[in-house]
Amino acid sequence: MAGEATRRLGRGGGTALPGLVARTLAPGLVESLAAQPGQGVVTVTGTNGKTTTTHLVAAIATAAGMTPLTNRTGSNLERGLVTTLVDAAGADGRIADAARTLGLFEVDEAALPALFPRLRPRVAVFLNLFRDQLDRYGEIDSVAAGWARMLDAGAGTPTLVLNADDPSVAALADHARGPVVLFGVEDRSVALTLAEHATDARFCACGARVKHEAVTMGHVGWWRCDACGRARQAPQVFARRVTLSAESSEVEVVSGEEQATLVLPAAGLYSVYNALAAVAAGRALGIPLAASVDAIAAAGPAFGRQERFEVGGRAVRIWLAKNPAGLNEIVRALLAAGRPLHVLAFLNDGIQDGQDVSWIYDADLERLTARLERLTCAGARADDLALRFHIAGRTPEATIGETGPALEAALAATPEGGTLDIVATYTAMIEVREVVAARAGERSYWETA
Ligand SMILES: [Zn+2]
Repeated sequence: MAGEATRRLGRGGGTALPGLVARTLAPGLVESLAAQPGQGVVTVTGTNGKTTTTHLVAAIATAAGMTPLTNRTGSNLERGLVTTLVDAAGADGRIADAARTLGLFEVDEAALPALFPRLRPRVAVFLNLFRDQLDRYGEIDSVAAGWARMLDAGAGTPTLVLNADDPSVAALADHARGPVVLFGVEDRSVALTLAEHATDARFCACGARVKHEAVTMGHVGWWRCDACGRARQAPQVFARRVTLSAESSEVEVVSGEEQATLVLPAAGLYSVYNALAAVAAGRALGIPLAASVDAIAAAGPAFGRQERFEVGGRAVRIWLAKNPAGLNEIVRALLAAGRPLHVLAFLNDGIQDGQDVSWIYDADLERLTARLERLTCAGARADDLALRFHIAGRTPEATIGETGPALEAALAATPEGGTLDIVATYTAMIEVREVVAARAGERSYWETA
């Protein structure tokens, strides 16, 4: 009733309020509803890639005959999960078609420890751990320690799907009570030179500083610790060869004895990592590689993640940027386009964006500046973003706070037949996507969800 009321009052998608209401009236609701899916529960967590990876695992599970029950609008705190479960249950508290249902939930990295014992996942996917919203999460090492304690406390024997290339994530294997499936990239041609890319200081589980032979992004790559001998382990699911282009990626994927070529309709190495995580989750669910690869190739983009629209004869592509690591990967993907770029960049400072916007100084925007044909800065903190670009050596042509006028100005300045790339923080992405989708004749996100 709370969700329906929210929608009817036109106050949004009604994705959070039912959870708040249910938590008060029935605190054991998550446990009783999450125990019902006959195919078990999969959790997906990490700083970057949760929504896309969840979206891809849903495509894989659907192709395998399961019915994924997923919090697809990215409402990934406890109240969003409760809402998803409540919406799926009938008035009798039973989830329909429970036998074929797979609970598939993206969970905020800081919210996971409290939810894990209540969801009791069959498969738990850990993608990566980057600095993000420090005002809210604290340092990455405290999040990693929380995950380790959560696994030590136990909740069944879940299969852990871990990024072998991220030392903070890979170390969770020490705390596994069930099987572990590692995924990673084995193609060193996509590595960055270490000087090119500053990595977050990263400490081994033993407390010593981790060393890198090479990195693919941030601190993710080929790592080892000289103090205790921990080192990156060979993954069971990996990309043997990766070819990145402006619009897509071609990946030779190996999963145990199986191999297949994946043509991924998404740009950027981070997209390859998301796909590998999804394949590894599929493996943990007993789904063959070929079926997973086909499902991923056919899945469209997740909401607001490299989504493409056609507006007034221009292609519009939307990129979600939440933190330095993610923004760096978007810069890298944009540079792969090899053409002059028309960019509309939004910076908001809402709670979901992170209210401390200093992170834009940790992103390598300098690399982008030479290729910008036209730059418009927008959002609640448009002036801060414009200053950041100015310091990087590129003063924007326009700085416009309001979403609608900023979009109109950027579209008007993009030649017909050209592409406008919109890079936006979370709340700005939700706003601008709504306007772009309306201009392109598509529906609101809660209608498509
Ligand atoms: Zn160590």
